Amino acid sequence: MAQVPVAEGIFTWPSDDPQLIASRCSACGMVMFPAQDSCARCASTEIEEHLLPRRGRLWAWTTQDFQPPSPPYAGATGKDFVPFAIGYVELPDEVKVEARLTESDPEKLVQAAEMELVVVPFGTDDDGNEVVTFAFRPVAT
Ligand SMILES: [Zn+2]
Repeated sequence: MAQVPVAEGIFTWPSDDPQLIASRCSACGMVMFPAQDSCARCASTEIEEHLLPRRGRLWAWTTQDFQPPSPPYAGATGKDFVPFAIGYVELPDEVKVEARLTESDPEKLVQAAEMELVVVPFGTDDDGNEVVTFAFRPVAT
């Protein structure tokens, strides 16, 4: 089964060490994720691609215990729905990124825990390809 990213231009794929694709303003240095065509701070259009570090610290999170409305939700539904967690991970000196977390048990999520980017299965598309998306998992210590 082929693997396809949930969207183009979000993370480097295929890759053994996937990285999120952000943009950085050449004028003021602001980093934006997802990538933008112009700077949210100074409106410059001198934007360059910028790959984000793969590790950061858990900043805030919540758990999704029921199936959200579709669209925009596009994951498993009905009895296949599995609760998941969404969090903000602060990447050092860069930006906070909103992402799924691989751990959905609130007891196991800790403020400022070190997190690592991974690519995880998300579903299947109409052509039978496996759709993958990015998430952060706690780094085993
Ligand atoms: Zn700027």
